[in-house]
Amino acid sequence: MNPGNVLCSKPDRRSASNPVIYGLVLVLLLLSPAASAITIETVSFTGQPVNLLPLLEFTEEQPGETLEDILFRPASDWQHRTSASNNLGHESGALWARVRLSGLSTATTETVIRLNYPHIDYADMYLLEKGKVIKHLSAGDHIPFSEWPLDKRTFWFPVLPEDVSSEEQELYLRIATPGLMKMPLEIMTFSDAADAEIQMHLWAGAVFGIMFIMMLYNAFLYSSLRDGTYLIYVLYLMTISALQFTLFGFGEQYIWGESPGMNNTILAFLISFTQAMSVLFVINFVSLKKFGSRLDLIYAYSFLTVLVLMSIASFSAPYEIMVRAGVAVSTVTLLTGFYIGLKGWIMGMKPARLFTTAWFLHLIFIGWFLLDIAGHMASTGRSDLLLSIGFIMEVALLSLAFADKMNQERELRITSQTRLLDMQLAMNRELDIKVQERTAALQRANLRLEELSITDGLTGLYNRRYFDKQYMEKYSKACTEQLPVAVMMIDIDHFKNLNDTHGHAFGDLCLVHAAGIIQKVVTMGDAVCARYGGEEFVIVMPKTTEARAVQLGEIIRQEFARTRVKHQNHAVNMTVSIGVASEIPEHLDQAERLLKYADNCLYFSKENGRNQVSYRGNMNQAS
Ligand code: GH3
Ligand code: MG
Ligand code: MG
Repeated sequence: MNPGNVLCSKPDRRSASNPVIYGLVLVLLLLSPAASAITIETVSFTGQPVNLLPLLEFTEEQPGETLEDILFRPASDWQHRTSASNNLGHESGALWARVRLSGLSTATTETVIRLNYPHIDYADMYLLEKGKVIKHLSAGDHIPFSEWPLDKRTFWFPVLPEDVSSEEQELYLRIATPGLMKMPLEIMTFSDAADAEIQMHLWAGAVFGIMFIMMLYNAFLYSSLRDGTYLIYVLYLMTISALQFTLFGFGEQYIWGESPGMNNTILAFLISFTQAMSVLFVINFVSLKKFGSRLDLIYAYSFLTVLVLMSIASFSAPYEIMVRAGVAVSTVTLLTGFYIGLKGWIMGMKPARLFTTAWFLHLIFIGWFLLDIAGHMASTGRSDLLLSIGFIMEVALLSLAFADKMNQERELRITSQTRLLDMQLAMNRELDIKVQERTAALQRANLRLEELSITDGLTGLYNRRYFDKQYMEKYSKACTEQLPVAVMMIDIDHFKNLNDTHGHAFGDLCLVHAAGIIQKVVTMGDAVCARYGGEEFVIVMPKTTEARAVQLGEIIRQEFARTRVKHQNHAVNMTVSIGVASEIPEHLDQAERLLKYADNCLYFSKENGRNQVSYRGNMNQAS
């Protein structure tokens, strides 16, 4: 039986471009199995490209069936696709499609029947005239590239004017692939197909150019900043580019075309590995270790591990399973990236905002791509472009996010440096205050030490060392001013006896009292009273005549005699012998002499019976 006889020619079908009419026809066809028996579409090719997919009828091949068996199939076995998508979804067996062509016999140039999707294992084209095969061509990624009819990125089946002799031909197409089946099938002139291919190459050149520049730029950033995120980003860009390169069909065309089956393995690997790289990149970019909870980290790294294991499994597990799994898990990957981005954003990581926006765009485009290839959506016919547009937009936004991240890190560095500087300044101020405090304390201690070094420990009067210094100063001043200066020596009488009788401690007490008496009497501000040694005291009095000094000496003597020192059961009245001398100094060398003279006067008082004041006057009288 000639199948061509059963297939009813309907040359006007293509004019039913109105989707409503077309939809109604489809519904009618589905409702009535009898009606389906009369259909085979005829495409009249006039040189303008025609999308064949909506016009194709399909049937599934039973195991072992050949073209002959397919040709003998009843018309009711042939169905139109109800979906407007050019995707046929996942098919496990082989699929046959057919359509009737007219206009090829009048064509003047080479015509191409182009299956513009390169990821099909086997694609066979049969052209029949009156039930006889006039042309059979094979392509597919399981056939070495060199055996394809034309060395093109996708499957091009050429038909030459001399190939055909009748007005009409039947086109039978057999595709067999375990993965996603897509059938963007067109008939067009060779030159139109070649033009489209040039445009495609230009677009691909732009995409890979952008990717390459971004890789170089980020590799440069990594080499100067040594931040691993840039390196991971370069890896991510590399895998994205490799995936895009493979999806476009360039891998098959230029690299692994002679190894049948290699394309499947690489595609399955890249689908999972790109996702692994994207998750790794997101974790690093958002600094999940810093911003995420423990649970976030456990989840993100477990998921990353799953993706890496899936990538490895692609080399041994069946292609169909791996591609299905890779596509299925991509929804999780996108949501995971989105979640991590949002988490960083919420936790205050500023660049995460741009990142999340970039990721969201990426999500929309990938989602669109996935819906498209899964056949859930009216196809654009250019789902491969969707992916690259998505990637480019993402990459552009991510570079902004990177700049933002660098900026924020710089700001952080500056604020921490300023904080460090402030801390240092505060510490310096504190140190200054402490130094000042210590210095003051040291000055007080020094003062006290100086005081101690010039005072007599028992009586509180100045000591002899200090007196000697003061005496020379006062004497020299008196010498300069030519004013009198007086010296008075006081020695307690029989102090040894007092000590012996009342004890050394009581003696000490008497010495303290003696100092008190002297200070009480000598009130002139410029006079210096000192303990000269043992129970002997000395006073230097500037601007004091001998008469005045004697007067004071007499008061002191009387004061001593009158004062009774009492302690416990001890009581005593002390007497003192005093020597006084005064002069208007003529020369500094004579300072010692005045002192000596006063001492002599004191001796005179002792010799003369003690408890008296001696001076030049009364000594002269006595001698
Ligand atoms: P004179 O009337 O001749 O001065 O007789 P004197 O006993 O006072 O003189 P002398 O020089 O013989 O003795 C001085 C005594 O003063 C001897 C010493 O024990 C006593 N003395 C010296 N320094 C101190 C002191 O710091 N405390 C006490 N308790 N006694 C002292
Ligand atoms: Mg004495
Ligand atoms: Mg003495």
